[in-house]
Amino acid sequence: MTILVTGGAGFIGSNFVLDWLADPAAEGVVNLDALTYAGNRANLAPLAGDARHVFVHGDICDRALIDQLLATHQPRAIVHFAAESHVDRSIHGPGAFMKTNVDGTFTLLEAARAYWGGLQGEAKAAFRFHHVSTDEVYGSLKPSDPPFAETNPYEPNSPYSASKAASDHLVRAWHHTYGLPVLTTNCSNNYGPLHFPEKLIPLMIVNALAGKPLPVYGDGQQIRDWLYVKDHCSGIRAVLAAGRLGETYNIGGWNEMANIDIVKTVCGLLDELRPDAAGPYARLITYVTDRPGHDRRYAIDARKIERELGWRPAETFATGIRKTVQWYLDNPQWVADVQSGSYRDWVNQQYGA
Ligand code: NAD
Repeated sequence: MTILVTGGAGFIGSNFVLDWLADPAAEGVVNLDALTYAGNRANLAPLAGDARHVFVHGDICDRALIDQLLATHQPRAIVHFAAESHVDRSIHGPGAFMKTNVDGTFTLLEAARAYWGGLQGEAKAAFRFHHVSTDEVYGSLKPSDPPFAETNPYEPNSPYSASKAASDHLVRAWHHTYGLPVLTTNCSNNYGPLHFPEKLIPLMIVNALAGKPLPVYGDGQQIRDWLYVKDHCSGIRAVLAAGRLGETYNIGGWNEMANIDIVKTVCGLLDELRPDAAGPYARLITYVTDRPGHDRRYAIDARKIERELGWRPAETFATGIRKTVQWYLDNPQWVADVQSGSYRDWVNQQYGA
């Protein structure tokens, strides 16, 4: 048996595939990824020579390719990570987000519907379409609001979150209209190994190590809930294994922190783990013009997945962020490799670094 993973060369997808195949008894993985700037085959290097992993370079918008993969590999599930995922990029160029996140999800759903419709008996009953989504679909919270529950209305504010909200609605509709056995998870901000250094935490680590400014948007008081990526992966596995069909599950770490406090935590860890460097890293913090429409606060109520499926995060923020900083210190070659010309151009355009 196999599962089809989309976007498995990206940050969360590659962590998921590595964790999944760490179990010798696990089903094989067909990994479909378009290798955009965010896709990195080096993330999957530990799987070289593992016959259970089949990498396919291709686009989720390519219906013929997906039909062919489904017919050839007969997966028991599709776990759908592939997306354009960076809010800043969605502000500058929303088109790619509509194409991949909306059209791509639609294409995948249609292919899954045709494939599932042709399955029989146990294979049909066992099939799952797991859609990986974000808490950003719920919009922004005021300081006094309770955290996002699965029942919160959708109020996306950025092109990225609007495109993910659209994809969530498509997934829901394919269940209600066609009976496709779907599951959706909405997770808070992830951090951990293999995170592309355009996102807050890895950007701060790599900039600090290079002695560059640490750009913090606005007043830095934007609050996010942070979850170690391996805990997100274990949450997806729990929902895939035992989630109720057609349901959505929030995944979060009960860990709300302001961006500026995240940056100061990273600086403090670097001061401790790299004491030879000149001066405290916090001296590099530089406030920059806020992102347009920047949501002030996200927070996740994860009680449903905890209650129904017994899932809990294994890491606290303190343990997870320490592992993360240490991983970047231990993997300078990975960092150097992803900082290609196109990455540098983007950072320069964004932050003038
Ligand atoms: P990422 O940008 O690191 O990786 C996305 C992957 O998708 C890349 O490997 C890219 O090459 C691939 N991809 C993009 N367009 C494609 C296409 N048309 N066809 C096939 N592959 C394509 O993203 P991530 O941070 O790993 O996020 C993965 C998923 O999790 C996304 O759906 C995102 O919305 C969701 N999510 C992310 C977070 C977070 O904090 N990063 C939190 C909650 C949910």
